[in-house]
Amino acid sequence: MSVMSADTTKTMLGIFGGTFDPVHIGHLQPVAEAAQELGLEQVRLLPCHIPPHKQAPQSSPEHRLAMLELACQQWPLFIIDNRELMWDKPSYSIDTLKDFRREFANRPVLFFIGMDSLCHLDSWYKWQSICKYCHLVVCQRGDFLPEFNVNITRLLNERRTTDVKQLEQHSGGYIYLAKTSQIPVSSTTIRAALSHGDVEPSWLPEKVQDYIERHQLYRQCE
Ligand code: ATP
Repeated sequence: MSVMSADTTKTMLGIFGGTFDPVHIGHLQPVAEAAQELGLEQVRLLPCHIPPHKQAPQSSPEHRLAMLELACQQWPLFIIDNRELMWDKPSYSIDTLKDFRREFANRPVLFFIGMDSLCHLDSWYKWQSICKYCHLVVCQRGDFLPEFNVNITRLLNERRTTDVKQLEQHSGGYIYLAKTSQIPVSSTTIRAALSHGDVEPSWLPEKVQDYIERHQLYRQCE
């Protein structure tokens, strides 16, 4: 297994990518808990432009960005990094991670993902190289029962750590399973609920819910 030493004078950089169509509490709460567990003061939210693994987002990049801005007002841990939206191509994580590595040299990068993403990681473009560029911090996901296939089991056997110092002392290479709350919600569930006008208020940051109502988003579920 290859891991790279880090510039230990620099703090770890947290990044969390998603379609955020719309951003919800299941995105924010687990990552906030994991960030606290790891001593991070900031996490960058990266809205993707064109998700390679699923249908195109229902809302425009402008709406998704506006909702993220409102979420950040309520959750000051988070800031927006819109680099993927600037690239007119599918948002492959490997390209984004290489871009971070170019910008931040050997600073440790913590790439937050949900447990469903870990279980399907071996379907990602160039998945075997992902950990060259970052550590993975995996959040529990309430609406998903984890099952590790042979590739993911091997990856975890090689790279799993429970030691935060390993993350601090290397720029990438490790996988950390965080002990976060299980929040059983997804953007898909929320879009479906909104199309019937019966969304559970606790699923969305209040200002995001107001924005969705004001702009009449997700009235029709595709
Ligand atoms: P959709 O339902 O449209 O597929 P989603 O709710 O799964 O969307 P994404 O924006 O695709 O959200 O996910 C971005 C990241 O957030 C992924 O790593 C995913 O695993 C994680 N995530 C989403 N919902 C949750 C949740 N309830 N708990 C933990 N992680 C989550």
